[in-house]
Amino acid sequence: PLHSSSKHKMQLSDIFIAVKTTRKYHKARLDLLFQTWISLVQEQTFIFTDGEDKELREKAGDRMINTNCSAAHTRQALCCKMSVEYDKFIESKKKWFCHVDDDNYVNIRSLVYLLSAYSHTQDVYIGRPSLDHPVEAAERVKSDGSTSVKFWFATGGAGFCISRGLALKMSPWASFGNFISTAEKVRLPDDCTIGYIIEGLLEVKMIHSDLFHSHLENLQQIPPLIIPRQVTLSYGSSEIKRNILRVQGPFSLTEDPSRFKSIHCLLYHDAWCPANDRH
Ligand code: UDP
Ligand code: MN
Repeated sequence: PLHSSSKHKMQLSDIFIAVKTTRKYHKARLDLLFQTWISLVQEQTFIFTDGEDKELREKAGDRMINTNCSAAHTRQALCCKMSVEYDKFIESKKKWFCHVDDDNYVNIRSLVYLLSAYSHTQDVYIGRPSLDHPVEAAERVKSDGSTSVKFWFATGGAGFCISRGLALKMSPWASFGNFISTAEKVRLPDDCTIGYIIEGLLEVKMIHSDLFHSHLENLQQIPPLIIPRQVTLSYGSSEIKRNILRVQGPFSLTEDPSRFKSIHCLLYHDAWCPANDRH
């Protein structure tokens, strides 16, 4: 059972889940998340977007945050959103910050289980390393004469989590718009900048986890048997080169091209799941 091997008492309500999205994906991507995993964690889930939407506002209320960031897919716009995510998390007083994209499925049970192995007062940064080697960023000359810093970072598209203890230490480089200037200084994307602040500046090691998944990896290669244990999942939305998980059913590829509905029914047997799969 979940509780027996967990060292630290934690609850679902201790987690702040930030979903990054953009106006044009509210229907195309977010609706599916609301139908599936978000329906289980409405109170913990905060949607960071760039345009008003009456329907989404009705569903999410104050948990829809219009960042007023540009809707462009640029480093500046994405860093602007991350900066707002960070500030809202700090304001929320919750113990864990988890960031995901709008093409991620979050397996809540696995997430809670994973985080309960740690304390939010420790320095915890956990996710899937984006590359198989650390990044090197140019930095001003340090006292020991070195001019660059090497660090790992977690792929934003696979989701990652940060403990409150660590998030507070990031404040000088992350709060109130400082995140944007930090990212500009090193000219790095948002997820990479997170790694730079944590590993490069704070010298805290990222915890590498293979339980987080983005569509940068070949999702077909994940053995179906271990899918229910993963923390995050994803899908490649390109029609040409489909990158989806091996999940048998209960929905067909046409009914469920992302496989998220099928995964959700595998995990939860929700009311709308086909009856023959409800045991
Ligand atoms: N996104 C955004 N603004 C944009 C385009 C994308 O905020 O102009 C978000 C999108 O909603 C998603 C993330 O950025 O949460 C990654 O986008 P996408 O999956 O389209 O691209 P990827 O980088 O994964 O190929
Ligand atoms: Mn994506």
